[in-house]
Amino acid sequence: MSKKELSEKLLYTKKSVYEKTDDARIDAAFAYAKGYAAYLDAAKTEREAVTVSIEMAKAKGFKPYTLGMPLKAGDKYYYDNRGKNLYLFIVGREPIENGIRINAAHIDSPRLDLKPCPLYEEGGMSFFKTHYYGGIRKYQWVTTPLSLHGVIIKNDGTSVTVSVGEDENDPLFYISDLLPHLGRESDKKPLGEAFNGEKLNILIGSRPFDSESDSNSIKLNTLSLLYDKYGITEEDFLTAELELVPAFKARDIGFDRALIGAYGHDDRVCAYPALTAILEEDAPKATLMCVLADKEETGSDGNTGMKSMLLLDLIGEISLALGGNPATVRANSKCLSADVSCAYDPNFADAFEKRNTPLLSCGVVLTKYTGARGKSSTNDARAEYVGWLRGVMDRAGVVWQTGELGKVDGGGGGTVAKYIANHNIETVDLGVPVISMHAPYEVVSKVDVYEAYLAFRAFSRA
Ligand code: MN
Ligand code: MN
Repeated sequence: MSKKELSEKLLYTKKSVYEKTDDARIDAAFAYAKGYAAYLDAAKTEREAVTVSIEMAKAKGFKPYTLGMPLKAGDKYYYDNRGKNLYLFIVGREPIENGIRINAAHIDSPRLDLKPCPLYEEGGMSFFKTHYYGGIRKYQWVTTPLSLHGVIIKNDGTSVTVSVGEDENDPLFYISDLLPHLGRESDKKPLGEAFNGEKLNILIGSRPFDSESDSNSIKLNTLSLLYDKYGITEEDFLTAELELVPAFKARDIGFDRALIGAYGHDDRVCAYPALTAILEEDAPKATLMCVLADKEETGSDGNTGMKSMLLLDLIGEISLALGGNPATVRANSKCLSADVSCAYDPNFADAFEKRNTPLLSCGVVLTKYTGARGKSSTNDARAEYVGWLRGVMDRAGVVWQTGELGKVDGGGGGTVAKYIANHNIETVDLGVPVISMHAPYEVVSKVDVYEAYLAFRAFSRA
C-alpha cells in the first residue's frame, strides 16, 4: 500500500459539507433554509414557537392529545404544555417496548424580561425595568432595536397577547449607551462592571400627556396609550410575561448567502430540523417523539422545562395505552438532545482548542459530553450509543463532526441531555454549530442546518 493510500485509509480528516457532498445537496440546504428563516421570524419567543409549530403539525394531520387517550399505530398527536412547551409524537408500527426515538430541542432563547413593576419616568423619558433571561453579554444588547412580545393576564383571567416591533410600521424599543466622548472612565472598567443588569432599561416614551408640567406625565401618557390599545392598567404588569427580543429579521449573511444571521438560532436551529423531521413521517417503525422545551436557558426548572415530570408522564401514558411497561420503554428509548454547539471563531482563536471544536460548514455536531471543570454536571454519553448513532449517520450519508464547547477549563455549558439521560434513556447531544452564540444576532451555516435535519430523519428511521 502506498503512503497516500495508507493515509487515506488510516487518517481522520474533518471535511466540510462542500467537500463531502455535491451541488444538489447544497441547493437542497439553501432551499430548506428559506423555511427555517420564516420559522425564525414567526417564532421569536417560546410561546410563538409553540403556536407556529402547532400550526405546522396540524397541517400534517397531528391532533391534540389528552393524557389517558387510547392509542394505535400511526396516530399522530401533539401535547401543548401551557402554551410554552410542545410535545409531538407518532405511534410506531413496532412494539412500544422497543423504545421511543426522542428529539429534544428548546425554544426559549436569551432575552430581556420585564420586571413586575417595570414602568417609570425620568429625565424626560419613560422606561421599562428588565431582568435578563439566560446567559447574555450585556453590552451586546444596548443600542439595538428591540421588539416586545408576550402576554398580560388581567385580574378577570383574560389574556392579552402583545407583539410590537415586528411589523415595519411598528415602533421599536431601545437601550441607551454612553457616548464615546464621555466613556473614558467606563472604558477602564471590566465589561461585566461597565454594563450591569440594572442599566438595561428600555426606552419606551418621551411625550407627556399634556402641556402641564407634571412629574409623571410621560409615564401617564404611555399608560394611556397602552390602555387604549390593550385595555390594561399599570397594575396588570404585575401578572404579565413580557419579553424584549431583537427586532431583526433573519437574513442571509455574506456575498455567497451561505450563512443565516438571526436572533434565537439557539435553539430554533435544532428545534426546526427536529420538528420538520417528525412532521414528514407517516407510519414509522419506531414510536417517535419531538420535544420543544422551555426554560433551557435558565436551567430547565419549572413545569415547562425538561426537569418537569411531564416527559415521564407522557412516556408512561403512551406505554400503558399500547400495553407496554413504562420502565422497559424508557430503558430501550433513544434520545438526541438537540442543542447548538459553538463554532470555531478565528477572531477569538485563543478561546478554542481547534482540534476538538466544531468548524462552521462541517456538518451537524455530535457532542459526547458538555459540562465544565472535569466534565462536571454533564451527561457523558456511552461510547456504545455514540457508536450506534455514528453508524446511523454514516449509512444515511449525513455529514457530521464531533465537538467540545471551547477549551478545557475555559468555561462550559450544559444542555437538557442529562435530565433526559437521568430517566434511564440513552441520550447524546447533537446540534448545529453557532457563531456568536447568545448574541442578539447569531450566525449559522445553511449546510449545517440541513445536515442536522438529515441526521434527525436518519435517527427517526434507523
Ligand atoms: Mn441551547
Ligand atoms: Mn443557550
